[in-house]
Amino acid sequence: MNKEKFTLIGAGLAGPLMATYLAKKGYFVEIYEQRPDMRKESISAGRSINLALSIRGIHALEEVGLYKKIKPQTIPMKGRMIHDLDGKTHLQPYGQKDDETIFSVSRGKLNMDLMTLAEKTGNVSIRFNHQLLSADLDQNELIFQLSDSSEEIKLSFSKVIGCDGSASILRKAIVKKTNADYVIKPLGHGYKELTIPPSKHEKFQIEPNALHIWPRGKYMLIALPNTDFSFTCTLFFPMTGENSFETVITEKDILNLFQSQFPDAVKLMPTLAEDFQSNPTGDLASVYCEPWHFENKALLIGDAAHAVVPFFGQGMNASFQDCSVLNQLIGQHADDWTAIFNDFSTTQVENGHAIADMAIENYLEMRDHVNNPDYKKRRNIELKLERMFPDRFIPRYSMVSFHQMPYSEVYEKGNQQYKLIDEVLKADPAGTFIDKALVEKMLP
Ligand SMILES: Cc1cc2nc3c(=O)[nH]c(=O)nc-3n(C[C@H](O)[C@H](O)[C@H](O)COP(=O)(O)OP(=O)(O)OC[C@H]3O[C@@H](n4cnc5c(N)ncnc54)[C@H](O)[C@@H]3O)c2cc1C
Repeated sequence: MNKEKFTLIGAGLAGPLMATYLAKKGYFVEIYEQRPDMRKESISAGRSINLALSIRGIHALEEVGLYKKIKPQTIPMKGRMIHDLDGKTHLQPYGQKDDETIFSVSRGKLNMDLMTLAEKTGNVSIRFNHQLLSADLDQNELIFQLSDSSEEIKLSFSKVIGCDGSASILRKAIVKKTNADYVIKPLGHGYKELTIPPSKHEKFQIEPNALHIWPRGKYMLIALPNTDFSFTCTLFFPMTGENSFETVITEKDILNLFQSQFPDAVKLMPTLAEDFQSNPTGDLASVYCEPWHFENKALLIGDAAHAVVPFFGQGMNASFQDCSVLNQLIGQHADDWTAIFNDFSTTQVENGHAIADMAIENYLEMRDHVNNPDYKKRRNIELKLERMFPDRFIPRYSMVSFHQMPYSEVYEKGNQQYKLIDEVLKADPAGTFIDKALVEKMLP
């Protein structure tokens, strides 16, 4: 067996997982990562301390045999716990079935476990402190900067996969060579991570089995539980303008914002002002790029291909699904890499674009619509339709989070369902009566 060697850029979430799949197929893989090894040096794993893991991600972790180890480190979240301005809370379940749950998981721990899993295959080595500066796709050459010296090194590659995240350098090289359709859409809103610590008695201070949301129209605060009984809170807030990261700066500004908008949360956040001032503000954007490959030499996966805003909790899940789909294509096309890269790019690009669009739409839903009577009416109808037609009607949130159908199909079905609910509401604006015959006719 004379299998080719793969070069992967980035040992974040997607890189080590993809390396594991390749290694299991007998390929040798070298991953180049700009940061030091987080298993040896205490560094932040990057953006967001914890993440919502759902079926697409779980499926891939099961395929490589890691889910059994990860599962005990996760916390199930059964729905959205909405916090009103007066401190009242109410739970909106994500689904109607017991297993319709998403899971909070630590990004750092998951990343470290993925790296160790990849190395354990014996076919993967990770070179830390190597930052890719540029790629020459004609000459098959990559230029890296080593972080412990001013030295730059040139390495040749046979096949390179960019798992180098939303600011991918490999993407730049592919865009240049293919004259790709390429847009970065800034959201105009950024994020800041904050903390609700455990109680004095080492307990959770709010309900652990929920994703908490404080929806406030133009912005929102969310909180996901951690296994140390703390919550990581994230404020999603405009970057500029009257009420924005540009204007909320002093301790007084921060306390004013939180005491007026998130009064029940602020009581639980003793280090709020300090955290707000010392934690970085992250920017958010969606990346739309087509194609994701150049010939049979270079390919993008994960955020490098399709960075999405985090409001559907799907960026990592989509990236893991990329790895699983690519693995299937390797089997289907019997190691014909021209066909594999081409097929992956052709079929997956539209899914990347669909989840990017749905994630933006979900920001509006989370920060604004969840408390809106019209949204609640539509959501009730969705749930009734699901009970009436369990094989033919699955709400969009469930199709994304509890099923694995391609995102582009979910998007299309979701739009049809929206129109269907419009018709139900035309027949009965209160949404209490559902005309079964009408729905039967409209359902695929
Ligand atoms: C606030 C926030 C919350 C989120 N919440 C969720 C969630 O709940 N659920 C979910 O599914 N997703 C979530 N995401 C999205 C998720 O973080 C990403 O989709 C996921 O990390 C993508 O994995 P990746 O491996 O493609 O990129 P990354 O995890 O970003 O990894 C990229 C790696 O490449 C390295 N790298 C970058 N450039 C270079 C270079 N030039 N040379 C060498 N190495 C390089 C980086 O150091 C990094 O290790 C969230 C994102 C944010 C910002």
